[in-house]
Amino acid sequence: LPLVKASNSLSLSLQAKMSRPVQARRLEGIDKNIWVEFVKLATTYSTVNLGQGFPDFPPPDFLKEAFVRAISGENHMLHQYTRAFGHPPLVKILAQLFGKLLGRDLDPMTNVMVTVGAYQALFCCFQAFVDEGDEVIIIEPFFDCYEPMVKMAGGMPVFVPLRPKAPKHGKLMSSADWQLDPAELASKFSERTKAIVLNSPNNPLGKVFSREELQLIADLCVKHDVLCISDEVYEWLVYDGKEHIRIANLRGMWDRTVIIGSAGKTFSATGWKVGWTVGPNRLLQHIRTVHQNSVYHCATAAQEAVAQGFQRELELYGKPDSYFVQLPKELQQKRDWLVQSLDAVGMKPIVPEGTYFLVADISEFKSDVPDVPDSDEPYDSRFAKWMVKNKGLAVIPLSTFYCGAHKNNYNHFIRFCFAKEEATLKAANDILQKWKREKTSS
Ligand code: PMP
Repeated sequence: LPLVKASNSLSLSLQAKMSRPVQARRLEGIDKNIWVEFVKLATTYSTVNLGQGFPDFPPPDFLKEAFVRAISGENHMLHQYTRAFGHPPLVKILAQLFGKLLGRDLDPMTNVMVTVGAYQALFCCFQAFVDEGDEVIIIEPFFDCYEPMVKMAGGMPVFVPLRPKAPKHGKLMSSADWQLDPAELASKFSERTKAIVLNSPNNPLGKVFSREELQLIADLCVKHDVLCISDEVYEWLVYDGKEHIRIANLRGMWDRTVIIGSAGKTFSATGWKVGWTVGPNRLLQHIRTVHQNSVYHCATAAQEAVAQGFQRELELYGKPDSYFVQLPKELQQKRDWLVQSLDAVGMKPIVPEGTYFLVADISEFKSDVPDVPDSDEPYDSRFAKWMVKNKGLAVIPLSTFYCGAHKNNYNHFIRFCFAKEEATLKAANDILQKWKREKTSS
């Protein structure tokens, strides 16, 4: 009998334990992640993957060689922990490069911190600056992790859209045609606003914010004493002679801006997950607090190799052999191929000024994937799923880059990544051409 009693009370206590919510409140509503779903679909069905943003070509030889030297060279300490806030050679070269770009002396130890990709840099910023109830302005469409990261920190995302205006007659739309309405932007700032997230060049549109647009944002930040989290991971990927302008360089902005960068995008090595933050010590000191209490150390050998990559780039700065000159040149050509092939089949491209993404209008293909009225799922999402399953071409729906309430505002666009080998882009073109032929013959 005592045994039965004991087992009863054990099952009771187990039940009691299992009925208790295990999930922390801050995770409510942020459990779904579209990348998990779309990466799985791409792996299962796609023959050509222009979905997730990563190059399918190799990083430059000088970078790969630097990594090989780091792991097989004499210095076995490169297999051990390095300085937690950034491997000294990397923070030193980043301070030198950004010092030059920003026209100010940077201290490698206090003005630069290395992170596990730009993703961790973003996470550190929100954790460091956002309190319960603080508002953070996010410009739509946006790299989707900003929203859950703000929420996880207890903050309230406040969205303001880039609004498309019609292109000049007979011209393709450009990412520059998507603009902020100054009055609408100003209306989002209040005393509750703690920060704004700026992403220029912007994922997914490829928009490169102009000096006037940045000045508008900067003036509002200064007026309302707001911080700027400036995600500049595509800083080197700008086309047609456009200039990437750093908001931290505008008057009053250095002291309130954290610049975020990524070696993944800079050197076509997204799997290395080396990122960084650059900014004033008054902001970075708090980012270091989050970092030291979460990730603390980043992989040493990858940092060593990235440091050597930057060393080379600093020496070749602005010269034709520089990777920062060559990569955008190659990508611009790839962009133009994809623009042409989409335009030829009637999937109207929005020509991006930067990044390695291109958004295209799928309106003319709607008859293949009929709308389901009152469906919870935005049309572009169903279209992208249908396309990967039926045509083998993986892309990302634009609604991914809008908050829940706005997912149906622009739901007839899909995003392509064109940082791909010529053969991959050709294969995508073949799929689109065949599809178009089938459409016209049916
Ligand atoms: N910001 C933006 C705008 C991005 O597109 C990405 C990657 N897709 C990141 C940050 C994350 O970069 P990383 O891979 O260096 O973490």
